Amino acid sequence: MTVAITARTYQNLIDGEWVDAADGATFERVSPAHDVVVGRYPSAGVVDLDRAVAAARRAFDEGTWPMMPGVERARILNRIAERIRAEADDLAAVEALESGKPVSQARDEILSSADLWEYASTLCRHTYGDTYNTLGSAMFGMVLREPVGVVGMITPWNFPLLIISQKLPFALAVGCTAVVKPAEITPGTTLRMAQMAQDAGLPAGVLNVVTGSGRVIGTPLAAHPDVDMISFTGSTDVGRRVIEASKSNLKKVELELGGKNPQIVFADADLEAALDAVVYGVYFNMGECCNSGSRLLVQESIADEFIAKVVERARTVPVGDPMDPRTKVGAIATDEQFGKILELVDSGRAEGADLLLGGGRMDTDAGRFMEPTIFAGVEPTMRIAREEIFGPVLSVMTFKTAADAARIANSTTFGLSAGVWTKDLDTAIGMSRAIRAGTIWVNTFLEGYPELPFGGYKESGLGREFGRFSIDAFTELKSVQMHLGPRTSWWMPRSGGDAR
Ligand code: NAP
Repeated sequence: MTVAITARTYQNLIDGEWVDAADGATFERVSPAHDVVVGRYPSAGVVDLDRAVAAARRAFDEGTWPMMPGVERARILNRIAERIRAEADDLAAVEALESGKPVSQARDEILSSADLWEYASTLCRHTYGDTYNTLGSAMFGMVLREPVGVVGMITPWNFPLLIISQKLPFALAVGCTAVVKPAEITPGTTLRMAQMAQDAGLPAGVLNVVTGSGRVIGTPLAAHPDVDMISFTGSTDVGRRVIEASKSNLKKVELELGGKNPQIVFADADLEAALDAVVYGVYFNMGECCNSGSRLLVQESIADEFIAKVVERARTVPVGDPMDPRTKVGAIATDEQFGKILELVDSGRAEGADLLLGGGRMDTDAGRFMEPTIFAGVEPTMRIAREEIFGPVLSVMTFKTAADAARIANSTTFGLSAGVWTKDLDTAIGMSRAIRAGTIWVNTFLEGYPELPFGGYKESGLGREFGRFSIDAFTELKSVQMHLGPRTSWWMPRSGGDAR
């Protein structure tokens, strides 16, 4: 399928103005599926970042946003949601071209992003503190919930608009201001969303977006003394660097990091449903997904037959041009990422796993496409069982009992999510309790709702996004103690002569 691809040119949003980088530097993105330039963006430096942070600081300290009535903030957030929904087709095309993901999948993600903005708008009117009328007749206690302040947001390339929509509308809902640094290779839809926010009436400086490299502006954003909180989604390695940088002013940190998520299939499961979800879970978004079901744990008694079916089904997954609506698996985002995937595939072979399917690069005229890949005979100690591959590679292990399955599931340093397939209620609840991960899917996989908290145990993250729980992330609590009536001076004798 041939598509006419034209490169779009973007600017950064700082203090309500659309601007180039101070030194005029730019960078380009080439579509990983077509090898054609699809976008040009300002290559922001520290000067630009400082201007963006100063604008967000002013908008928070002196602007109208933090104290704006919730109903007005909600209207603005809803207008942004409407625009995202109205322009879903075009936004999906931008994401598919920049990231290599299938355009039909991108469209679903854009609509889910709009849903997040709509949900967050309801929190504008439901953010409140507490009162204590139980502290004695001379004391009245109030707990105020206040926006944390200026939030720096750093996002990855695998779900560009969806991930910024997991953070930004929630922070805005409670009155924060923001400086956003999207991933260098997929900034288009974040900048488009910023334009929509401006058009919807978001005051100048409340949202600022700067594009450029993580090392050049990401680390300084995490270290910036005028930033009160950093909300980061990306790899566990960079998450550690963000914590290190954030120590400068001990800012609040929220991290959404990597995963090595198991799908656990018991012999009594609906095996047809499990089969579909195993193939979907690992190849969705080319496996470039924090929640990728990259480990399959299958009960020994059904293992041979089930694994054979997974291989058979995986052979039929449509891999190809992301702009073709029939495509389910698009291009790998970068050569660097491809190199990491192939290096881990090599390690799987070298450590003695059985390569049942794929394992290499597909032969195409343009772009970078990977064969759906399956390893069986994997041991929990192998690198392909422990490390996040972030590609279309499934590592298959077997287990005898539920206790074995839980032990293998918990045997990595990650704890983001897991899928459990069984018809037995005791097994479902027992496994949900035993697995140390932030999300457990029972007889389903990769679902998400704005109402439910999302985040990781162990090295998969710090804190939670979504739902009313995100109010905790983006607010501070303040205790106000109000004395009523005359107060006893500390040095005057109390009645009864006690002068303590
Ligand atoms: P990444 O390399 O960690 O990059 C994430 C962001 O951090 C990008 O904007 C990047 O900028 C920036 N960055 C890079 N180095 C930095 C530094 N030294 N200081 C501050 N910022 C820096 O991750 P990725 O490759 O984009 O995304 C894949 C990873 O994200 C996977 O590990 C995946 O599991 C994780 N992820 C987690 C979730 C979740 O919710 N738990 C969701 C999606 C993805 P540039 O790339 O522009 O240089």
